[in-house]
Amino acid sequence: MAEAFDYVIVGNSAAGLQALKTLRKHTADASVAIIDREDCPAYSRVITPYFVGGKTERENLFIVDRDYYQKAGITTLFGRNVIALDAESRQLEMDDGSRVIFGKLLLATGAEAHQLTVKSDRSSVLRHLADAEKLAELMQNAKCITAIGAGLVSLPLLSHAPASAEKHLVVGSNRIFSRMLDAESSAILEKRFVENGLQLHKQNDIVAIEEGARLKLQLASGDCLVSDMLIVGKGVEPNNELARAAGLQVNYGVVVDDYCRTSHADVYAAGDTAEGKDFVTGEPIIQGNWMTAVEQGENAALNMLGMGCAYSGSLKNNITEVFGVDIAAIGDCMNDTAQIVSTHDQTTGRYRKVFLNEQQQVVGAVLIGETNDAGLYYHWIRTRTTFPGKQVLNGTNSYAAFQQRMA
Ligand SMILES: Cc1cc2nc3c(=O)[nH]c(=O)nc-3n(C[C@H](O)[C@H](O)[C@H](O)COP(=O)(O)OP(=O)(O)OC[C@H]3O[C@@H](n4cnc5c(N)ncnc54)[C@H](O)[C@@H]3O)c2cc1C
Repeated sequence: MAEAFDYVIVGNSAAGLQALKTLRKHTADASVAIIDREDCPAYSRVITPYFVGGKTERENLFIVDRDYYQKAGITTLFGRNVIALDAESRQLEMDDGSRVIFGKLLLATGAEAHQLTVKSDRSSVLRHLADAEKLAELMQNAKCITAIGAGLVSLPLLSHAPASAEKHLVVGSNRIFSRMLDAESSAILEKRFVENGLQLHKQNDIVAIEEGARLKLQLASGDCLVSDMLIVGKGVEPNNELARAAGLQVNYGVVVDDYCRTSHADVYAAGDTAEGKDFVTGEPIIQGNWMTAVEQGENAALNMLGMGCAYSGSLKNNITEVFGVDIAAIGDCMNDTAQIVSTHDQTTGRYRKVFLNEQQQVVGAVLIGETNDAGLYYHWIRTRTTFPGKQVLNGTNSYAAFQQRMA
């Protein structure tokens, strides 16, 4: 006998948890189930690098505790993998043979990390809690750490690793953060990271791993790195196989409209698995950031409840700290827009770059060295604000400068 629920969410993370909270905010009585193959309460993937590096305890990763779901009257099916979706009969099939029937379904299945073709027991990606636990153990005694891929997994992990460890980064392209920042911004950071002891191996790859007391990592360049562990940060792939097999429209991610609805009227998708509209360019995109997953999870839930709320589109919004340097990349900050305004204080390292469209509206920003006012730039982009002028970049507080100018 299959259990039936008004609303079913697959994925207990940023998008799924926000959808659940939104559903409960508006419906006390509806039956809601959340399913996840990980058997734990929702946790923040964003802070797992701090846990791996020993800078925070495991318990601090959790956003809610196990009681939360019970108190909210939510059925949890954790430790269960959904293996098939039949959208027409509104059924999900689990790996233990059980079935669940839904009124409306949210796919908040996120993404999986790309693996390397060459493998070792002393290497791991970082996507799930189990990966974080493995990396934390490997890192404890590592004297030399190598990572491959120069994005939001490898660089924070290396930066939070013990200061005493030798740190190498193997990068396929000719620069770091090549999917997040423009070339000038990434060059500024590269210099800072190298000054902090990072050893870079650009336009390179790991082609073989020789096991032994230590790992011998054979590089495409012919060099060999002797290391105690390997971090794999080569990007992610959306978990879209359930939707694809069910005949829903899938491009790179599960295609959603402005209501986070898939090509099936009763199935919604949100977060790292969903391909929706970018707020600035209007192009389909998977942003791959926590805030977008939360916004889309909320929007999907409102529309599952029949509230008819359009989502204006997602925004790039990466705010992080690597090797002690605060970094924010918001909106369209990689393309040559109509006008680019920047300042760089060589003494303090404070760098600001603002991207404007033809109407002089702010469409993107890169902040390095200080990100306290990143929210203001996010707001300017969301509200299509006309850039107040270069002077707002120079003060230590853009908001005060903005207010002064508007007074
Ligand atoms: C190390 C790391 C650092 C990051 N740093 C940042 C950062 O600084 N800033 C930022 O904005 N973002 C960051 N991100 C990205 C951010 O974590 C993601 O954008 C966010 O987690 C996406 O949330 P989601 O709910 O869409 O999916 P996910 O968090 O991927 O969760 C999907 C859930 O669905 C479950 N699931 C999938 N398929 C099934 C199935 N068939 N059956 C049952 N369960 C299933 C999975 O187990 C998983 O728990 C980082 C990610 C990582 C891994």
